[in-house]
Amino acid sequence: MKKKLIGILLVLVVIVALGFYFLVLTKPRVLNVEEFSSIPRKKIVRLKIEHADKAQLLRVLILQNGKEYVVYEGKPMPEVLLEIHPKKLGLKEGEAEVVIELSRFYFLKEKYSIRSHIDYTPPLVNVVFSPYAVMNGGSGAVRVSVSEESDLKLSVKDLIFPFYKIAGNTYFSLFGVPIDFSPSDSIKIIAKDKVGNESVVLVPVRIRQKHYPVYKIELKGREKVLIPKLSSLLGEEINKSNFIQAFKKVNEDLRRENEEKISEIGKKSEERIYWSGKFLQLKNSKVVSLYGEKRIYTYGGKQISTSYHWGYDLASVKNSPVEASNSGRVVFTGFLGIYGNTVIIDHGYGLMSIYSHLAEFRVKEGDIVKKGQIIGVTDTTGLAFGDHLHFGIMINGLPVNPIEWWDKKWIKNNILPAIQSSTSR
Ligand SMILES: [Zn+2]
Repeated sequence: MKKKLIGILLVLVVIVALGFYFLVLTKPRVLNVEEFSSIPRKKIVRLKIEHADKAQLLRVLILQNGKEYVVYEGKPMPEVLLEIHPKKLGLKEGEAEVVIELSRFYFLKEKYSIRSHIDYTPPLVNVVFSPYAVMNGGSGAVRVSVSEESDLKLSVKDLIFPFYKIAGNTYFSLFGVPIDFSPSDSIKIIAKDKVGNESVVLVPVRIRQKHYPVYKIELKGREKVLIPKLSSLLGEEINKSNFIQAFKKVNEDLRRENEEKISEIGKKSEERIYWSGKFLQLKNSKVVSLYGEKRIYTYGGKQISTSYHWGYDLASVKNSPVEASNSGRVVFTGFLGIYGNTVIIDHGYGLMSIYSHLAEFRVKEGDIVKKGQIIGVTDTTGLAFGDHLHFGIMINGLPVNPIEWWDKKWIKNNILPAIQSSTSR
């Protein structure tokens, strides 16, 4: 009698254990049902199924207005790739229900259901303003209106510039054109709506191909001036024997490091406009070097290093006072390697100006400065041969040609129509 009871108990334990194994431990489950909460024009879902081998049939259906649209019917796998084209399936935009069924032993069924929003209309982008032409190395601005709330980006060659909201569905972007931009490259607006429908619109703009000069600079004979500079910039003893190596290190490695830092600062701009009117050029100054110059450094006629010049060099009298070229907020003051003592002013919405080789600062980080306010005095700090101001403009960290920003008419024709808050122009 006792033995029989133990036997029955054992059988029960085995049944319960098997049941637990099949119904709980190895129950097939769909892990990412929530991916169906919205369906754009083309939706790709990698449906993940746990214990897929324990189920025999997977069905994915979309229900709308009493109709059933089959998306998938077949063997379940640990990962099932689904590509859904709601328009091709005959679905309407709006609400729907996605149902996923996993069948086991032909009578057990796991069922999942989720409400889904179907939207296959990409945002409509209307270019309200774009400049007639931009130059490589130059700047520009576009203004757009969009049919629905979207994530907007401006792509210029391989660079991305943000859009800022003006009002309602109107946005603008301030952008720089890289110096190596060619007419076969394009400027595009990429708009993505909330469910992921994307439109790409080409900005209709001409490219004025500007030629930037190339200069050769012979270093032989300049060791006397350069050796103390290189020694102090690298913090090590430099002499004639390691001079070329040291120059390369400063002109390439240190320059890259300094320019990356400047570009990083340039990407953290405030979303407001501080500036107005044209930008100021250093008073009574002579241009001694242009933006976009390529410099080829030689030693005894042999090329040893190259670099690009990302600003204007402006020379006046020794220790000339330097004015803020426009109103803004000081976002950097400090020593910056080859740039020496440097001030960076944020003018808002990605636009910044930079002042280098200064002797001292008359402002500190965080200060709000007015156009024309003295921020420092010129000197030769960093890798500068004579007393001058290195002046640069950048947009979202990209150095652009300052010449356009000194030109009131250019600003009026190319920037203001895109950024001004009034919509009636
Ligand atoms: Zn310079």
